[in-house]
Amino acid sequence: MAVTPRELESEFRQIFKSCAQPAIYRAPGRVNLMGEHTDYNQGLVCPIALEMACYIAVAPAQHDALRIHSAELGETREFPIAKIADAEPQRNWTDYVVGVARLLVRNGVALTPSDLYIHSDVPRGSGLSSSAALEVSASLSLLAGRPMDRREIAQLCRRAESEFVGMPCGIMDQYTSLFGTEGAAIQIDCRNLTHIEVKLPAGLQVIAVNSMVKHELASSAYSQRVAECAQAVSELRAFQPGIASLRDVSVKVFEEVQDSLSPVPRKRARHIITDIARVLDFAAAARANDVREMGRLFIAAHRSMQYDYEITSDEIDFLVDTAIKMKGVYGARMTGGGFGGCTVNLVDPNFAEDFAEQITAAYRKRHGKTPLFYDCQPGASASRVK
Ligand code: ADP
Ligand code: MG
Repeated sequence: MAVTPRELESEFRQIFKSCAQPAIYRAPGRVNLMGEHTDYNQGLVCPIALEMACYIAVAPAQHDALRIHSAELGETREFPIAKIADAEPQRNWTDYVVGVARLLVRNGVALTPSDLYIHSDVPRGSGLSSSAALEVSASLSLLAGRPMDRREIAQLCRRAESEFVGMPCGIMDQYTSLFGTEGAAIQIDCRNLTHIEVKLPAGLQVIAVNSMVKHELASSAYSQRVAECAQAVSELRAFQPGIASLRDVSVKVFEEVQDSLSPVPRKRARHIITDIARVLDFAAAARANDVREMGRLFIAAHRSMQYDYEITSDEIDFLVDTAIKMKGVYGARMTGGGFGGCTVNLVDPNFAEDFAEQITAAYRKRHGKTPLFYDCQPGASASRVK
């Protein structure tokens, strides 16, 4: 933990000029290893929860509002509890917290006026899901110990991001923050909300590289992909009536009928359907300790995102193409929603230092930016820490 509970408490008291004893909750970000944009197609994904997390120090207060402070943005905002159920989006960071609070109230949770001090070490807007970490941490803080099923929390947070923030996301990020586990990746079935653990081979380091670039079109292009997948489903119904999502179409059936689809939905469906299959192959390769096959699947997944789903960027493609030529690198791919953010790399630990040095030098030279590196050990799921 980059920040101690004592530091959080003291920052909480300073900001809110309070002498309350706050509870502290933690919810992790995640790095996805396989299955990109497959979650909202009812498919499979294989992420790990990170040690990097969003911490919230929270205590009941004597006013009638939710006061929320983000340490990263240095801003405090206040929302009267009585108006939360009908709150309107502000189109800023507070929507992630208020969106969750609003749905809790609508689900019958009587919120207590409280102060929430937010401190997150998940980089924002980099594809490591600082948004879900914030939503999940906020929901646990606002529930304040009241019981709620973790699947329900995950769905509530996803709805908040989709309906209130306006990002039509799948369930992967919130689910991973609530169900991730130390020492393993999880393979999530996004249709029935179950998961199994996928142990990663020893002698393999998972390193995320932050391109430090986030393209402005990310959110609208995301919505466009959601719509294109729906279009592909409706075209595929001509061949396989009754399908509910791209999850229901096998690679074999897709290959037989793909020439009949219109060009864009065809490419989008090809990415989703093959990426769902790659999740199973990736988990099998991990179980067999076959790091080369895991790396090969990483590269195949990247090409699929680059050419079929068209969600990568010059900077990200450069980071991947540079990494996979290097000694000690088994595979590299973009991770997260796309159009910038991070790549994730499978690296032999003996080459981790060389990897960082060479990537930094090449990226500076080509794109004039200094990338950041995150060693991604699987971390624990969201919980109260104090
Ligand atoms: P990602 O989830 O990949 O980090 P998103 O665009 O989905 O990227 O979410 C990033 C947004 O979440 C930020 O722009 C901000 O609005 C909000 N957010 C995340 N962490 C914090 C934080 N510590 N304080 C305030 N807002 C945050
Ligand atoms: Mg996000």
